[in-house]
Amino acid sequence: MFEVLPQLSPDPILGLSAAFKQDTNPNKIDLGVGVYKDEQGNTPILSAVAKAQQVLLERETSKTYITPQGVQGFIDGMLSLILGDKSPVMLADRVAAVQAPGGCGSLRILAELLTRVNKDTKVWVSDPTWANHIPLIGNAGLAIETYPYFDKASASIRFDAMLDALKKVEKGDVVLLHGCCHNPTGADLTHEQWQAVMEVAKEREFLPFVDIAYQGFGDGIEEDAYGVRLLCENLPEVIIAASCSKNFGLYRERVGLAAIVTADTKTKSIAQAQIQNVARGIYSMPPSYGGALVDIILSDVALKQEWQSEVNEMRNRMRTLRSLLVDKLSEYGAQKDFSFVNQQKGMFSFLCISPEQVQKMRSEHSVYFVDSSRVNIAGISLSNVDDMAKAMVSVIN
Ligand code: PMP
Repeated sequence: MFEVLPQLSPDPILGLSAAFKQDTNPNKIDLGVGVYKDEQGNTPILSAVAKAQQVLLERETSKTYITPQGVQGFIDGMLSLILGDKSPVMLADRVAAVQAPGGCGSLRILAELLTRVNKDTKVWVSDPTWANHIPLIGNAGLAIETYPYFDKASASIRFDAMLDALKKVEKGDVVLLHGCCHNPTGADLTHEQWQAVMEVAKEREFLPFVDIAYQGFGDGIEEDAYGVRLLCENLPEVIIAASCSKNFGLYRERVGLAAIVTADTKTKSIAQAQIQNVARGIYSMPPSYGGALVDIILSDVALKQEWQSEVNEMRNRMRTLRSLLVDKLSEYGAQKDFSFVNQQKGMFSFLCISPEQVQKMRSEHSVYFVDSSRVNIAGISLSNVDDMAKAMVSVIN
């Protein structure tokens, strides 16, 4: 039967990893896949997570099914992390939420929920956006449109163009926004720009869909939630997909949260039952393990503090690497000014060089990153930053 299916070309990022593995250059550098790495190039288990695993090992007495919504302590902990301790929408009992398999699972079940509301819903995504947004949302059957976001020539957000586009979005349309650490560009909205987006959302009555996958990697755990909190506190409805892959380092455990801020408590109950019903028809209920770990961490003062300082350490390391890269590029004589890299947030940076230059980085210098010029900042290290900067200078000058 399956011979009727077309052969698919390899996924560009996974293809890049395969090419990296095959490269025999001992000084090769991998800046492709979006996974945090330490100075040695490892993606370690956070120490707060390792301790939580011990607690869970002793505490867990059964592997029977958990509830359809997932681990309730996880949901409560994540909602206060994202929305704040004294969130007005939480106090007003307006938030439906479920644990989901990763940020991807959350994006997908929310997209499915939107099709139940209206199968002709349009979802506006930034140009560019994380490549997987398109299949995750589009395969649910929703139409995808783009709004302008980033200008490669000036390495900055095209905010006027973005706002103009949002002013034409129709009532009931959905606008996907990156809560922080925009993937792939690393370019985030300022507080004033979030305010302007919120006002347009209010006026046009579109639904903001916030994807927050890097909370804590930009300016701080609290600071990175500024935009999503502003929207939730000022609009009747917002939907949120959050991921614990990066900030808890729980990638393979697949831990995410799908939340729906509704206009009132009655609608919250409807949304809660509907989102559980959507999940029931796809994977029935989420795996408990990763959510149980996050619950243990967030509900224990000492473990939470330990986790916060580990997040701070990851963020600070990436910031240091950004500024080191910028300094080294100028030290080795780059004709282009790369100081914009210091303004970008989180794990990714768009270096704003051409696909041909990116390919040369790969073929001539064994430095691997995607053609868009997105690099994983955490793949840089004190030991490879000189090679990386020299390679860049020779390719771009
Ligand atoms: N959203 C964005 C913008 C991401 O970059 C990612 C991870 N690359 C995710 C969501 C989801 O990640 P996961 O499913 O691994 O939690």
